[in-house]
Amino acid sequence: MKIAMTRREMLAGLAASPFLRGKAADPPFERIDTHIHLNRTAPEILAGFRQTRWRALTICDSRAIGDQPPDLDEQVRGAIKLHRESKGLIAWATSFDARPFERPDFTETTIAGLKEWFKEGAIAVKIWKNIGMAIRSKSGAYLMPDNPALLPIYEMMQKQDKTLLAHMAEPDGAWLPLDSTNPEVGYYSKHPEWYQYGRKGAPKKEEILAARDRVIAKYPKLRVVGCHLGSNESDLPALAKRLDNYPNFAVDMAARVRYLAAGDHKAVRQFLNRYQDRITYGTDTVWRTQTEQQVLHSVQTAHDRDWNFFARSDEMNYHGHMTQGLALPEKLLRKIFYDNPVRWFPGIV
Ligand SMILES: [Zn+2]
Repeated sequence: MKIAMTRREMLAGLAASPFLRGKAADPPFERIDTHIHLNRTAPEILAGFRQTRWRALTICDSRAIGDQPPDLDEQVRGAIKLHRESKGLIAWATSFDARPFERPDFTETTIAGLKEWFKEGAIAVKIWKNIGMAIRSKSGAYLMPDNPALLPIYEMMQKQDKTLLAHMAEPDGAWLPLDSTNPEVGYYSKHPEWYQYGRKGAPKKEEILAARDRVIAKYPKLRVVGCHLGSNESDLPALAKRLDNYPNFAVDMAARVRYLAAGDHKAVRQFLNRYQDRITYGTDTVWRTQTEQQVLHSVQTAHDRDWNFFARSDEMNYHGHMTQGLALPEKLLRKIFYDNPVRWFPGIV
């Protein structure tokens, strides 16, 4: 799609943005991507991040479901290696395999394992959507995030001052008919295992989020960062209510900036302004089979695109849709891209 813009519009955009003087569009502060999955050695990516003054939090997920082989240890080894190589540029978050939650020694073993990884520098622990949507007890009941077997883990994290990253539930699209009006039609066509529409006996999205909220309420000193706008990507008023109710709750925008770009910009700007201390930025970049160069290119493209959306005022093509930049003030940008990550993930810098 051709970006048509008059010279006058372009100049208006330039005038409104403090970050477009000359060629350098970069801000006078470092930026932090709080949600990537690059759990292996990555010299070229590190060099690229250094050049553009980005830091990041790389996250390990225990994604296995059913009797799939465990997939966490390899990610953890890679994350530790990357963290060390980066000399602190990349912080890391660990996770745990929740499938054996009914074993009598589950809680104790899990806590002992997490403490070992904290010694290796892990600053946060991620729980993933397989809790609430896939892992089940022997009797068939879904494991929910507030299951008693998990509570001592959160309690230990609160004591150890670690952050809980919670990717709970999915976008609304997982519970909507799979047609062209579904904004997630691409993803769920390829990943039917996470498509919940009409699935009998599966917890509803609100039930999963309510169980997460009970954890947030039960441990008021535990910092909880809800990934992907806390799965309230299409309902900022609902998210606002949660942020009002739970001062220990924040959200990352990983892979959901497109919802903000497509949404009502007046409401989005108000939301970002009101909750300016509770939001971090992330891309959700995943390194699968691409080359390192390709990953670097894709993460830098996302960084530039999203930065332009938040910082600039001109019209731009965001994921194939024309949209206008939000032109947030520098104070807000600095919070979202640096101060909030530092505050919500102690140890990230
Ligand atoms: Zn992710």
